[in-house]
Amino acid sequence: MRHSHAELVIIGAGQAAVTLAETLRRDGDTRSILIIGEESFPPYQRPPLSKAYLSGGMPQERLWLKPVDWYARSDIGLMTGARVTAIDRGGACVVLQDGQTIGYDTLVLATGSRPRPFPAALGGALRGVHLIRGIEDIGHLAGALDRARRIAVIGGGYIGLEAAAVMRKRGLAVTVLEAGPRILARVACDKTADMVRALHRAQGVELHEGVGVSALLEGADGALGHVQLDDGRVIAADLAIVGIGALANDALARACGLACREEAGGGVLVDGLCRSSDPRIHAIGDVAAFMLQGQVARLESVQNACDQARALAQTLAGVENPYMPVPWFWSDQYDMKLQIAGLNTGADQTIFRAGKRAGTGSVWYFRKGRFIAIDALSDPRAYMTGKRWLEQGAMLSADRVADPGCDLLAPAMTA
Ligand SMILES: Cc1cc2nc3c(=O)[nH]c(=O)nc-3n(C[C@H](O)[C@H](O)[C@H](O)COP(=O)(O)OP(=O)(O)OC[C@H]3O[C@@H](n4cnc5c(N)ncnc54)[C@H](O)[C@@H]3O)c2cc1C
Repeated sequence: MRHSHAELVIIGAGQAAVTLAETLRRDGDTRSILIIGEESFPPYQRPPLSKAYLSGGMPQERLWLKPVDWYARSDIGLMTGARVTAIDRGGACVVLQDGQTIGYDTLVLATGSRPRPFPAALGGALRGVHLIRGIEDIGHLAGALDRARRIAVIGGGYIGLEAAAVMRKRGLAVTVLEAGPRILARVACDKTADMVRALHRAQGVELHEGVGVSALLEGADGALGHVQLDDGRVIAADLAIVGIGALANDALARACGLACREEAGGGVLVDGLCRSSDPRIHAIGDVAAFMLQGQVARLESVQNACDQARALAQTLAGVENPYMPVPWFWSDQYDMKLQIAGLNTGADQTIFRAGKRAGTGSVWYFRKGRFIAIDALSDPRAYMTGKRWLEQGAMLSADRVADPGCDLLAPAMTA
């Protein structure tokens, strides 16, 4: 179907876009809605891409966020394989790659983020070097894995470590290379990193921290052959997975003059009601940068995409209810489930509570005596408890957490 105008146009057909459209329809909003996505697939969830789907244990259809006929049934327009190349704010329309223009009354940027690439000049464009963001990436990777034996994972963040776990489970030789002083340095404390590192080493992963990759080197067949480290070592690898952070897909916003964040992967600046510097344009999900606990943050999580979309649905309904999330996130590696709630930035005290089994437990973060975040490693009860405390904003003392005999049930859980 050809569209020339929709009251609400959403650029990007991912988690945030679908949640926004669904919430509006559920709340009885009858305006015309059009979602425009550049990928050729129906909107899908990304977390399994570095987990079950990468391991081959999940059919593609299970990635779809909604059954394919749901959009028509919900009276939501969906264009896939359609890339927006410009926003004409004066003309209140978006321009597609094929030159088609679509007018809007309200525009939402839900364009997500993309992996930070390894520089092409340093070998990042060699055959055998892979990124993980979309279904197509996994298709390329799966094909290459059949021929690969030695895998270098560049970056010890969540995506790199999840991919390392899947590769090890396939019996491949895996080396994780982390340029920072330790894995998970930007997101978790020493204790959590220690437990995750121990798990990977026990599974046979070779893990090097504090050493960067200076170049990816061509092998005999023109594809990746070796990885050169900045301490001079060279290790053999026939496949590399790059997981060195993400950048907001904010180019459309920048090009049309919307206020964007310069540092930390960029992002479209929005206020608590998800409004950009243009009152007719909003941003949600990975691409949005907003004030959270006194700092400008951009969250890359399903929780944020969904909750910010729901917050925007309220804004569009005329309800001013600023978005103030308690962020949460999860990561699956081998049989371990890491669950995180809250933001640990600025923590000055951490307390570890052991779980029921070896290698399980929880880390509780405090800042100036205030409980601010929890990491739970295969300890769902601790996670739920910590998350409830954070959601209730109730005072939880470090002394109670430090006492292993103290049951930390949050107030509402005892009712
Ligand atoms: C491998 C992987 C594993 C992850 N694991 C977890 C996890 O375990 N837990 C968790 O909470 N989160 C996880 N995440 C993060 C989570 O998937 C994202 O935070 C979430 O998908 C963000 O939703 P979004 O709608 O903002 O962006 P996306 O879901 O990325 O959707 C944005 C869409 O916009 C499209 N787009 C961009 N520009 C244009 C344009 N100009 N025109 C048209 N379309 C455009 C993009 O192609 C994309 O399809 C993971 C992400 C990845 C990549």
